[in-house]
Amino acid sequence: MKHLILTLLFSVTLFAQGAKVASPAEGYQLLMQGNERFVKGQLLHPDRDEVRRVKTVAGQTPFGTILGCSDSRVPPEILFDQGVGDLFVVRVAGNVVGPIELASIEYSVIYLGSKILIVLGHENCGAVDAVQQGKTKDIEPIAELISPAIKPNMTLENAVKENVKNVVGQLEKNPVLADLIKKKQFAVVGGYYDLVSGKVIVLTPAPTHR
Ligand SMILES: [Zn+2]
Repeated sequence: MKHLILTLLFSVTLFAQGAKVASPAEGYQLLMQGNERFVKGQLLHPDRDEVRRVKTVAGQTPFGTILGCSDSRVPPEILFDQGVGDLFVVRVAGNVVGPIELASIEYSVIYLGSKILIVLGHENCGAVDAVQQGKTKDIEPIAELISPAIKPNMTLENAVKENVKNVVGQLEKNPVLADLIKKKQFAVVGGYYDLVSGKVIVLTPAPTHR
């Protein structure tokens, strides 16, 4: 009996943790709704209390992964209005993906069950700007990853957007992620964050409900 109760409790806990999102489309919707609240100044600050902290002690099941820039003006949990345990965040200047970032992303998807990944570039990105201006001293490893996005006479905004699309393409080609994308168990979306409005503009096709 005790064993049955424990099993039931464990299942309920797992269900409760994992139930937040069942599909990439649902995860996408939650993120965009959160961003809309942020833009309108109607934040809910969901799941940031002791109840959530206690619930997530034994493990995490973040529904979304964000590959964002380290820029202090672009904090994922705040701009998507999400709580503790909701987002697995990988932040690096220029939101690029090298082997370490890729391993972190794969971990969140394969082991933690994240359903949606947003690659988030932003207005006035210093890393992309530096590469565009050829000022890459001391940021060479990052510049190397951003440089395929840079074309002559491009605006900074377009360079940032191009970099996001490149990274999305790179991730979609990853065999592990590609397999899950094909099965509609996971999706990658590119976004551009506007510093003034706080809005995330979507740059690539969003997942739809099946
Ligand atoms: Zn940046």
